[in-house]
Amino acid sequence: MQAATSIAIERTQSPKAKPPQDQLGFGVYFTDHMFVMDYTTEEGWHGSRIVPYQSIALDPAAKVFHYGQTVFEGLKAYRTEDGRILLFRPEANFARMNRSNERMNMPPIPIDMAMAAIKALTLADQDWIPTDAGNSLYIRPFMIATQATLGVQPSERYQFIIIMSPVGAYYPEGINPVKIFVESHYVRAMIGGVGEAKTAGNYAAGLRAQTAAKEQGYTQVLWLDGAAHKYIEEVGSMNVFFKIGGTVYTPALNGSILDGITRNSVIQMLKHWNIPVVERVLSIEEIYEAGRDGTLEEAFGTGTAAVISPVGELCWLGEKLVICGGETGELSKRLYGSLTGIQYGRETDRLQWMVEVK
Ligand SMILES: *Cc1c(COP(=O)(O)O)cnc(C)c1O
Repeated sequence: MQAATSIAIERTQSPKAKPPQDQLGFGVYFTDHMFVMDYTTEEGWHGSRIVPYQSIALDPAAKVFHYGQTVFEGLKAYRTEDGRILLFRPEANFARMNRSNERMNMPPIPIDMAMAAIKALTLADQDWIPTDAGNSLYIRPFMIATQATLGVQPSERYQFIIIMSPVGAYYPEGINPVKIFVESHYVRAMIGGVGEAKTAGNYAAGLRAQTAAKEQGYTQVLWLDGAAHKYIEEVGSMNVFFKIGGTVYTPALNGSILDGITRNSVIQMLKHWNIPVVERVLSIEEIYEAGRDGTLEEAFGTGTAAVISPVGELCWLGEKLVICGGETGELSKRLYGSLTGIQYGRETDRLQWMVEVK
């Protein structure tokens, strides 16, 4: 592989002490190394290197600080019981990163280069992949605009960086339902905006509502559409599914919803299990109606961090709706068991989602 051989590796002289596996949390500790490569309009991507994890020095005028030209990704590496290292659908992350890049007027990264980078970095820091059940190595590739001029134009210089963090099981005591606040005042994204791009501004835009929801005892916010405040978009950093009368519904991708890889994987698994799954416009009113007439069986969020996150309660305009008795539903459990089974190499990987790093 041509790209792989061109990655310069500078190993750290002072490896860090590894944190205890039962105290990892999420994105708190970082491994010994990071991957960096540079882009200029004249040279394209160049300077692929793995270096000791360190601060980055940028000119204070770098465009990323002022105009938010940046995108990120998130995926995980898993250690199997027999010691192999598996990545979950990494090409899908880089393909999505390139769709985000396109929307943010940033250059695409060659997917083979990104794959060579992620594999080389994972191998360099393979001792950091936790082995305890449910733990994994979270991988955060991101790109920033580094040109140091304040004109509002697309940057002519970028850096692509990958950092990695050992993370704990999202639910140390097994999966637990969350309480979600349905947001009717603030919006996250609008059709035609940047909602489907994994870009920083979407998250900054959501923090105010998230804080307000937390103050009322809710863990996350369910976003409604930006125009009518009627139609369900997604939850925090998760896509959302509802099981009503035996059929599973999820909002169709409309440009303002993130195209989750866990979402896509869940849809494929449901189809394989012959459970009807429908992607369409979904109103919050019809979810409440289904809740009132007893046909709403389960609700759950999907995303890399939590995998499957059952929803035990919604609160919309002051009206509470308890789902599945506030418990984790059967389908949520089955999906969680199967997806994590595939990710940790315990279940047959029928669709060849896992990529072994060796
Ligand atoms: C990353 C993300 C998701 C989930 O995507 P996965 O690929 O499943 O991790 C959903 N919504 C938002 C806003 C996200 O940033």
